[in-house]
Amino acid sequence: MSKRIVIALGGNALGSNLPEQMIAVKRACTAIADMIEQGYEVVLGHGNGPQVGMLKLAMDELAIHHPEQYTVTPLSVCVAMSQGYIGYDLQNALREELRDRGLKNSVSTIITQILVDANDPAFDNPSKPIGRFLTNKEAAVELEAGHTVVEDTGRGWRRVVASPKPQRIIEIGAIRALLEAGQVVITGGGGGIPVIEHGNHLRGTAAVVDKDAAAALTAAELDADFLVILTAVEKVAINYGKLDQKWLDSMTADEARKYLAEGQFAPGSMQPKVEAAVAFAESGPGRRTLITLLEKARDGLEGRTGTIITA
Ligand code: ADP
Ligand code: MG
Repeated sequence: MSKRIVIALGGNALGSNLPEQMIAVKRACTAIADMIEQGYEVVLGHGNGPQVGMLKLAMDELAIHHPEQYTVTPLSVCVAMSQGYIGYDLQNALREELRDRGLKNSVSTIITQILVDANDPAFDNPSKPIGRFLTNKEAAVELEAGHTVVEDTGRGWRRVVASPKPQRIIEIGAIRALLEAGQVVITGGGGGIPVIEHGNHLRGTAAVVDKDAAAALTAAELDADFLVILTAVEKVAINYGKLDQKWLDSMTADEARKYLAEGQFAPGSMQPKVEAAVAFAESGPGRRTLITLLEKARDGLEGRTGTIITA
């Protein structure tokens, strides 16, 4: 049976505007096509920070300037939009790259919802900034609407939302079916659309699920062999940025947990990746995570570089 891998593409694989995205995505798809050519079954996840920021800003401007015509667009809808247009670029770039190599796999994007727990303690402590900077007046409007805003080091106010733990992927059955039919699936963009279950009704919630945590859950639910987190560094380091910085070739989940407790990995960047790697390693036997650069993915899968996290 061929090995199954779930890839989490970082921000540098997408660029921060539409023309950049076209170029960045082409580069990313060369690396991904290499893996498919090597015989791996591939599921692709990706971030959406700048993209969802742009969409939220655009939709807010519409609501502000044309209140008679438009209401505010919820964050969950903006995440869905971002999954759609990033997936559109990725699936076409990958399709073209595969066709150029004589490969016929279909590539499709699944709009992905991810179940979160309404009682997740993260909802008591919103920490993830979204959208643009706000004036004092706009911040007051947000507060009145029940949203949380924080002052961002003299640059103005920002709305912050919770980052709850992903519990279950709603579309997992569709993802698995496509994968088993030999198709490449793009899923969980931006960490997925966080939803809360009310009986049969799924309600989008203004929260952001970490994309690396979402990819780890996807990998566990698909019984993948590898979680591959492609980011802006070739390896994970301890004492990062210090004189005694040390790049790691590998770590066990126990070692990773010790480093996490020491605060070795920056919150909001490397910390969630290492946490995702630990969660995946402990979700079943033989499951390993590779953290490396996009350009090094192939070398990393062959054990020549990157940081490998195992149980
Ligand atoms: P992505 O968009 O791929 O999620 P992030 O910026 O969120 O990227 O996280 C990757 C960044 O984490 C790296 O570019 C690096 O600057 C930073 N980082 C923080 N701590 C460490 C560490 N201990 N080892 C390596 N990189 C680290
Ligand atoms: Mg990140």
